[in-house]
Amino acid sequence: MKLTLAEAAMGAGAVLDAPNVPNAGSVLLQGYSIDSRTIAPGELFFAVKGERFDGHDFITAAVERGAAAAVVSRARAASLSDLTLAVPLLLADDPLTALQSLGTHVRRRWGKRVIAVTGSAGKTTTKDAIAAALGAKFNVLKSKGNLNNNYGLPLQLLRIEPEHECAVVEMGMNHAGEIAALARIASPDWGVVTNVGMAHAENFADGQSGIARAKFELVESLQASGVAFLNCDDPYVSQFGRDFAGRAVYFGRGPCADPQIIDVAEDEHGLNIRYRAGDDEHTLALKLVGAHNAINAMAALAVAREAGVEIESAAAALTALTPGDKRGETIALAGATILNDAYNSNPEALRSMIRTLAVRPAQRRILIAGEMLELGEHAPRLHAECGKAAAEAGIDLVVGVRGNANHIAAASCMAGVPSLFLPDAETAGHWLAENLRPGDVVLIKGSRGVRLEQAIETAKQML
Ligand code: ATP
Ligand code: MG
Repeated sequence: MKLTLAEAAMGAGAVLDAPNVPNAGSVLLQGYSIDSRTIAPGELFFAVKGERFDGHDFITAAVERGAAAAVVSRARAASLSDLTLAVPLLLADDPLTALQSLGTHVRRRWGKRVIAVTGSAGKTTTKDAIAAALGAKFNVLKSKGNLNNNYGLPLQLLRIEPEHECAVVEMGMNHAGEIAALARIASPDWGVVTNVGMAHAENFADGQSGIARAKFELVESLQASGVAFLNCDDPYVSQFGRDFAGRAVYFGRGPCADPQIIDVAEDEHGLNIRYRAGDDEHTLALKLVGAHNAINAMAALAVAREAGVEIESAAAALTALTPGDKRGETIALAGATILNDAYNSNPEALRSMIRTLAVRPAQRRILIAGEMLELGEHAPRLHAECGKAAAEAGIDLVVGVRGNANHIAAASCMAGVPSLFLPDAETAGHWLAENLRPGDVVLIKGSRGVRLEQAIETAKQML
């Protein structure tokens, strides 16, 4: 939203300091940024201090790229260079807090519906699906990519324009209290929770129930007039409606779901979902792959229907969605097909992608499965179960990559499938380049920390 510098100062809780710039308060800001490498002329630069960098060291670079003004820490203002001092400054106790306050200001001033999505897996996909489904009727602000944290979220709120009719944002967390803090910034009207996994379990003394409580912070933050959209198949999320004064809408396969999945069939073109909404049965074709995406699509239909979008129009919008970056993308390589699902992994999603691989017509179906991180004490068993599932699905060759993925390879080997274990993504890339044959279909999936996309890059360079 384009604000004057005077309004931005007020919204950010900062003091405008511009002795060298006449009428600085009436300068109209063109946008907002924390990155001096990508800031565009006329934007406001927030000198945010991160783990590795301090934005105060990059104010000059931002000014050289045309920043209209900079939000700086009051304590650092005295030490700024002459060039920096040539643009108006907004003096704040902390530029990050100022960014968050300004995000809240814009959200309040705009005043329409914000929908927030949280959960351990599927947030970005569900956020994009919700935005697509709502887009059938409304002008929707969708948060970009994965920007879901204490600076990403306010930056997304600052992209709201008066003509947007609703906004869909993602909220991520590593610790208790973070979702509550993000909810204070965005004041969501509606909240969507996809699932509760084991991600960041090490930060919670009470493991999964602690993670569940942290996700519940989103529902807790909603007003009684709000709506919580809950995955009824998740043992924790399905309970979130109990202590919520507002309306709870459930999606998934279970009996309380509406929309409710009746059946998911998959072929090489994607998913064909039969589902019930109210008393009616419908079908939905998705280009997204992996049955876990059927759940994400149901969340989107639930939200769209609540917002008054015709279910058929919402479904048509979902049909147009294509897999996101490293989330089931198809890549052609040397006559073979790579399913790049390297963004992340968990046992449920890996098993559903094994079924995706199994229905692909291929000379050989190859699974390159990276370690699944953050699974706690059950990690070996959960990996082994996926290896067994690969064998049962008829996968021809299994490669486990890194750490606990040796249990995947060991289990598939025990079940009679040629299998091997490799230590890292780089080695997996060499193996792929040396062993890939035309007609192969290769699924590549592992946790973010394994960075299995590197295997594809290495193989591409070698082939
Ligand atoms: P991040 O925490 O990195 O922001 P995210 O929650 O936004 O991740 P996505 O990027 O949408 O999640 O999806 C990441 C991976 O999670 C997918 O590639 C898939 O393996 C898995 N996934 C997506 N949706 C689900 C789901 N509903 N249930 C289980 N796993 C899922
Ligand atoms: Mg995400």
